[in-house]
Amino acid sequence: MFWSLISHRLAPGGRNGKLSIFIFHRVLPVADPLLPFEPSAKQFAWMTRFIARAFNVLPLGEAARRLQEGSLPPAAACITFDDGYADNLLVAWPILKRYGVPATFFIATAFLEGGRMWNDDVIEAFRFAKGEELDLDACGLGRHQISDAAARVRGYEAVLGKLKYFEHFERSAIAQQIAARCAVPTANELMMTHRQLRTLASEGAEIGGHTRTHPILEKLDDTAAQEEITVGKQELEELLGKPVQVFAYPNGVPGRDCSTRHGEMAHQAGFTAAVTTRQACATGAADPFQLPRFTPWDRTPLRFALRSLTTLAKTN
Ligand SMILES: [Zn+2]
Repeated sequence: MFWSLISHRLAPGGRNGKLSIFIFHRVLPVADPLLPFEPSAKQFAWMTRFIARAFNVLPLGEAARRLQEGSLPPAAACITFDDGYADNLLVAWPILKRYGVPATFFIATAFLEGGRMWNDDVIEAFRFAKGEELDLDACGLGRHQISDAAARVRGYEAVLGKLKYFEHFERSAIAQQIAARCAVPTANELMMTHRQLRTLASEGAEIGGHTRTHPILEKLDDTAAQEEITVGKQELEELLGKPVQVFAYPNGVPGRDCSTRHGEMAHQAGFTAAVTTRQACATGAADPFQLPRFTPWDRTPLRFALRSLTTLAKTN
């Protein structure tokens, strides 16, 4: 097939192996105007079909080991999901199974069983808010037009951009306040339950650590960062009854959100590899605790394919 001829040429495997690690968060059952950057099931199906045809997809733990050993197959890739959304099991997993490709799911344990991450508190607040404007001046977050879906998206993006680097607990408290003010129901099924996570693992998905509460590790002192990494891993292992090997840094931009210091902590906790969100593909020279990831943002099959292969052509 055409794409696999190109990908095999760009990434021949073995000692010259390259690893493309795709990153996703959610896959929506149908497109949602308030979440324009998350793929729908239909879009994810053609993305997965392309990845399955053009790449040799492996679970991340195995791929990271073989990258170091110099024994990767040609055009090696991993498909990863961050955070633990229920749609990963309900929408993405059946599509992955249909195309016979493995995947790795990084779970922030504190939000399982009906929790909601702070960013979703804000997004849902902008969904539920009534009227023409959402006034968040009282918490220093400005006033936002909400006359249509596009305006609501611009509004929550501005708020998320400001809140992202607030102190961890303050950020959660403000996001919850905003959600409450906009009458967002507290009960929700956004994230997986323990039972759903066990189902995903029992069907062969690889589960990885993503801390407990999804802090920006660089913002925590070392003791707190180590605890987030270690306790998240222990909680997953207790839930699943088996070891959890791989880790993803929350937010994951090296130098800004995490550093090699956190790689050492992940190693200390017993992980064998960790992924960031630096946009590149990994070569054998890569630090196994700083593996880059990328997903083309394109929403047409041709552009998605071209960008996947262009990233492969670049060397770090
Ligand atoms: Zn995350």
